[in-house]
Amino acid sequence: QARSAKRAAMAFDAKAYGDPAANLSLMSEMRASIEAGHMALYHQPKFDLRRRGVTGTEALVRWIHPTRGFLPPDRFIGMAEETGHIRALTEWVLAQAVRDQKAMAAAGHELAVSVNVSGRLLGDLAFAEAALELVAGACGDICFEITETAVVENPELALAVIDRFTAAGVAVSIDDYGTGLSSLAYLKQIRAGELKIDKSFVFAMGESQRDALLVRSTIDLAHGLGMKVTAEGIETEAALALLTGMGCDLAQGYLIAKPMPLNGLLNFLSEDAEVLKS
Ligand code: C2E
Ligand code: CA
Ligand code: CA
Ligand code: CA
Repeated sequence: QARSAKRAAMAFDAKAYGDPAANLSLMSEMRASIEAGHMALYHQPKFDLRRRGVTGTEALVRWIHPTRGFLPPDRFIGMAEETGHIRALTEWVLAQAVRDQKAMAAAGHELAVSVNVSGRLLGDLAFAEAALELVAGACGDICFEITETAVVENPELALAVIDRFTAAGVAVSIDDYGTGLSSLAYLKQIRAGELKIDKSFVFAMGESQRDALLVRSTIDLAHGLGMKVTAEGIETEAALALLTGMGCDLAQGYLIAKPMPLNGLLNFLSEDAEVLKS
């Protein structure tokens, strides 16, 4: 039985990521790649819909692999979580995010920076210590966007870690809302300042009344609980108008700006966007 489960898992991996042997070697290279400077941090602006300006960025990692080329995070984050490399990777991302935030401030833009933290890492107290130390060196607001799935696996520990982050002034965001399994239980337990509506709902919203209703109700629910709402995946003026009308607070999407390296972000901030204090 264990073997067939393993085979099923490998078949799944092969479908999602390609050849399992190649993946194994990719993971064996991750630590060295981090140290060799082969990871890059991109930033996607977060746009305040009421105040009509940029108040923050989401930091998104890319792997510039010397032989395999540009690898998007969907190619390696899942594997990094499974193999335990996610901790070193996230610590690198956080340290880089803190550095980039200082570069933004030096260019005159005081922005909040959001970092993705896999729910799996919330069970790792050594990670929590390291993360808090890194955040203590930040010049502005840092937010952790936490994905839904893993918190459910070990609720007590995860919630204790989240409370420590919050107490240390780290804003906590519920990422990918609506794609996990136990959303209501999760909302009940986590004290987060922000909820992020996954782009799958935003894409579907224009075509489907049901999806539009789900988005609208989620915004109202989050507001009722005292949370801000960010919608991701805004690609059209229609989606932007619809979300603005629904009272959504913040927006991210290709319509506003794609994720870009720090230099591109600094150009965007000085030339194309109004930058507001978060
Ligand atoms: P996410 O946290 O849900 O991030 C949003 C993803 O949607 C990003 O993909 C972003 O580029 C994409 N996106 C934003 N606006 C649009 C749009 O208008 N249209 C479309 N089609 N896509 C849009 P990306 O950068 O490829 O990242 C994918 C996922 O990888 C992220 O999803 C996040 O779960 C994970 N990830 C990225 N960086 C990190 C990291 O440093 N640590 C961890 N743990 N996960 C990360
Ligand atoms: Ca995110
Ligand atoms: Ca998402
Ligand atoms: Ca995600």
